[in-house]
Amino acid sequence: MKPQVIIIGRPNVGKSTLFNRLVGKKLALVDDQPGVTRDRRMGDAELAGMSFTVVDTAGWEDEDPDTLPGRMRMQTEVSLEGADAAMFVIDARAGITPLDEEIARWLREQEVPVVLVANKAEGKAGEAGLYESYSLGLGEPIGVSAEHGEGIADLFGALWPII
Ligand code: GDP
Ligand code: MG
Repeated sequence: MKPQVIIIGRPNVGKSTLFNRLVGKKLALVDDQPGVTRDRRMGDAELAGMSFTVVDTAGWEDEDPDTLPGRMRMQTEVSLEGADAAMFVIDARAGITPLDEEIARWLREQEVPVVLVANKAEGKAGEAGLYESYSLGLGEPIGVSAEHGEGIADLFGALWPII
């Protein structure tokens, strides 16, 4: 079985866009509205002989388990158990939010290795957020633009040693 890498992050940071970019097909639903991805979606990513299964998740919502967002959060946590690594995606244009910090705190307590992905890093607008994301304590961020296809080889390079 291929290593499994799960995409984690708050709504609207570009998880599904990254999934689509990595898998190369429009399998994940992308929308401007937060929380549009209701199910986990899986697909295979390949670059230069390296191959792994990517799992797209619903956004992390700070809600109780009786609500749909709460259940989506639980689904994220459960699916992390089968993962060999996680890509934690932040929005470099928006900068770090309290919810990013909460997710980072939770991820630091998990066994699974984490690659920090600063998405929307195309152009100058993402620079501050990229540097700010060092404060999450998850190591060096990989700046990518899922939408424009930038930084994807760097992302594979960061995953290579840990999966
Ligand atoms: P998700 O909720 O985390 O799955 O986020 P989506 O993939 O649905 O994307 C949310 C929004 O961010 C959409 O409007 C995307 O077009 C936009 N987006 C995704 N990736 C990028 C990127 O690399 N750069 C910019 N500027 N926008 C992006
Ligand atoms: Mg999504």
